[in-house]
Amino acid sequence: MRKNLQQLTELQRIDLKLDGLQGEKQAMLAEIAALEAKVAGAQSVIAAKSEELAVLEAERVTLDENLATETDNITRSEARLKEIKTQKEYQAVSKEIGTAKKLTTELEEQILQKSAQAEELQGEIAGEEENLQALEQNIAVQKGEVEERIAALDSGMVKDTAAREVIVKALPATVVRRYTKLREQRRGIAVVEAKDGSCLGCNMNLPPQLYNMLFRGDELITCPHCQRMLVLSHEVANG
Ligand SMILES: [Zn+2]
Repeated sequence: MRKNLQQLTELQRIDLKLDGLQGEKQAMLAEIAALEAKVAGAQSVIAAKSEELAVLEAERVTLDENLATETDNITRSEARLKEIKTQKEYQAVSKEIGTAKKLTTELEEQILQKSAQAEELQGEIAGEEENLQALEQNIAVQKGEVEERIAALDSGMVKDTAAREVIVKALPATVVRRYTKLREQRRGIAVVEAKDGSCLGCNMNLPPQLYNMLFRGDELITCPHCQRMLVLSHEVANG
């Protein structure tokens, strides 16, 4: 059992290290995700503005077409005007021309307005694209750094995981199951030291009889308060 206790202590040490590394890795992955979200955000701003621009340009094309039609109408009406014989008809066509001219002026104003809006939007898009490019370059560097750190972490974790497997195989399966369950229930800490009559996991006093049993070291003792597996602190130091 003494050997088992040393192995359990080592297993706990490795698992806490792995927990820490895993936590670090998660934080780094979150960092990458945050960087990617930034890029996606900038991209969606550009996409929305580009869509707005496409709508504006389509509207301008329609206005251009209307203007062309009106201009044709005016040309045709003005040609007709020369052949008109009656005063009444002349007045009617003149009125038509007047209305059409007023309409073309309005159309021209609207076209100018749309063009100005489109130009402004194009400027905004160009600015956003420049920002995005800078952001992407920045992020590529940062991401590369984080990925390197993750790779280093992973290779360290591979070694620890292998060492852990060796210990797990050497321990009785029932002990490993108990250890695993305790880790789940006790925030990752299943094995704790006992020192000066107390459990260092929960800081409660241990019954003297139990503490004495620990010194004999021939069975697996758990804390009656927090249920964690106990090892004597001097064994931790020697182990
Ligand atoms: Zn305890």
